[in-house]
Amino acid sequence: MDVCLVNMPIAAVQRPSLALGLLGAMLKRDGISTKILYPDLWFAEYFGLRFYRKLYHTRPEDLLAEWLFAGTAFPDFEPDHDRFFERLFARNEKICHEEGPEAFKAMMLESREKVPDFIDWVIREILALSPRIVGCTSMFQQHVATLALFRRLRESDPSVVTMMGGPNCETVMGKTTHQSFPWVDYLVSGEADAFIAPLCREILDKGHGADPSHLSDGIFTPAHRETGYPVSAHSLDGLPRATSASLGDLPPPDYDDYFEELSGSLFKNWITPNLLIEASRGCWWGEKHHCTFCGLNGEGMVYRSKTADQVHEEIDTLARKYKVTNFEAVDNILRMDYFTTLLPRLEDLPEDYLFFFETKSNLKRTQIQQLRRSGARYIQPGIESLDSRVLKLIDKGAQAWQNVQLLKNCRQNGIWVSWSMIVGFPGEEDEWYAKMAEFIPLLAHLQPGGFIGLRYDRFSPYVNDPEAFGLELAPSELYPYVYPLTQEKIADQAYFFVEKNKPNFFTTLVQTPIPGHPGIEAARDAFRKWRREWPGPELCAREVGGEIHLRDTRPCAVTEQHRITGTDRLALEACDTAPTQARLMETLAQDATPQDITDALARLIANKFIFELDGRLISLVLNEPMESMPSDRLPTFGAVMAPQAAPRDDPNEDNEDQSRKVA
Ligand code: SF4
Repeated sequence: MDVCLVNMPIAAVQRPSLALGLLGAMLKRDGISTKILYPDLWFAEYFGLRFYRKLYHTRPEDLLAEWLFAGTAFPDFEPDHDRFFERLFARNEKICHEEGPEAFKAMMLESREKVPDFIDWVIREILALSPRIVGCTSMFQQHVATLALFRRLRESDPSVVTMMGGPNCETVMGKTTHQSFPWVDYLVSGEADAFIAPLCREILDKGHGADPSHLSDGIFTPAHRETGYPVSAHSLDGLPRATSASLGDLPPPDYDDYFEELSGSLFKNWITPNLLIEASRGCWWGEKHHCTFCGLNGEGMVYRSKTADQVHEEIDTLARKYKVTNFEAVDNILRMDYFTTLLPRLEDLPEDYLFFFETKSNLKRTQIQQLRRSGARYIQPGIESLDSRVLKLIDKGAQAWQNVQLLKNCRQNGIWVSWSMIVGFPGEEDEWYAKMAEFIPLLAHLQPGGFIGLRYDRFSPYVNDPEAFGLELAPSELYPYVYPLTQEKIADQAYFFVEKNKPNFFTTLVQTPIPGHPGIEAARDAFRKWRREWPGPELCAREVGGEIHLRDTRPCAVTEQHRITGTDRLALEACDTAPTQARLMETLAQDATPQDITDALARLIANKFIFELDGRLISLVLNEPMESMPSDRLPTFGAVMAPQAAPRDDPNEDNEDQSRKVA
């Protein structure tokens, strides 16, 4: 075997790796024999599905999986584990809510002791294929597991060349990893697709001594440790990033090895897979207006996309080959002209094709209807706030009234919206949230979001230029318990940052009262109530003999049944598009006097059918018939869940704690 590509834990076991699928397809296209291995699945088999799920659902910034593998990656490094857990629980008290802090800590310490055996098992499986190059992708919490694998692989067979890439390897993070851990031979900062095949060819020809740096400045080689690393005037931290100019030549990802692995997995009955697709990279909004909190894309914000034909063909190919019709697009943002090119073409696909897309939030109703017709039943529109002053502060390019309209139009069309309110932005005022808390009860029939604190991620404007926002940032306090590096190096390796000498907002949000933030506390409580009650409440209208009959079961309802006629009806219907008052007057000028319109509006507002936000009059009323919401949102994202009850020969089968016996 020439190349073995490896997806280390912790990754989503319910889907193949897009990065490795793509690189594998390109290597095979070039005649380089390649196998993709999935030790993330083996991890679930080794430690049990219950333990895997616990780790998978921890927040990446809690660094728990990174800490778990650190004992194997850095065996001579013994940080103060008690202090690590104290700090972890202080920032995320929910993490141990099932077991309690002491039992949770004991379980993690015991598991950390088992990691060397797990890694040795993975190495035996890899070496059984006799690969000459082993490459890993590192995203979220895969970094230290990869370093652990490479370190023990180097000890087991020094002839194997190691190579890594992925979002955790961008620019200064990649340089720090490569410089600090000599068992990483080659590291790619940025996107490797433009040169992966010649890179591997060169390494296959020349082994550890290959110098493929002429292929791209973004490849860090063993020689760079001696001669110094390449620099780039185009990146903020001065280090190069490889960026593919176009996606036009990319083949569909090769997911064969994942499905082969899954079919033999202990947990095959538990896993409903989905497939990742990629229509674009970068962000067309962020190229011009980088949202201040966004660390996505690293230094690769420049927007590139595939043609509608290419995306359609890829979907068709993957669905036929793998018999999976649930697709999750990894794009940061949907290209706007896909609404007239790609999405109409997806309408031709069978009904069971489901899609998830990330979109801009200021979509028009017709665009949301198009998403629905195309099978895009799940979207993540980057709402982030229901206050336009916050949205302006973070350069989001949308207003709060548009976000409310989006929630309304998505509920009307049966589209699931994945969204969160983020709080704690520099420059925001607590009193803005008090105002928000007042109108949130009106939205009880629309889909609620999460309520989370701001995180400072590398590559975001906050981290790129903290002084500009009056911030003083430091790497998360957990990194020194993971990496045996100096503070200076940790600052270069870290992705997650916190404000110096300030509690972070994730911690603050669970407190009652929230000290100094009564507005945020009121908004948080309103969100909690919203989430508790939804999807019960209704506010919907139907036409009966020329009248509108309206049913309102929101907890804030004035009464449950209403009949709306005359100017009230005209005004209510006109406010569906959230006009300004001046525009509404203009629209209804032929049908009613200004006084009639003003009186109608007053009644509709008093009944809480319309509310004013950002100078817009928004009707909150949904119209029957409404499209139903997806009954189960899990399959589109893939799922790991207990199989349907069915008689099994082996009573131990389908037990989530079962583990594979390792020879
Ligand atoms: S948050 Fe979304 S829209 Fe904003 S820059 Fe990042 S990817 Fe683009």
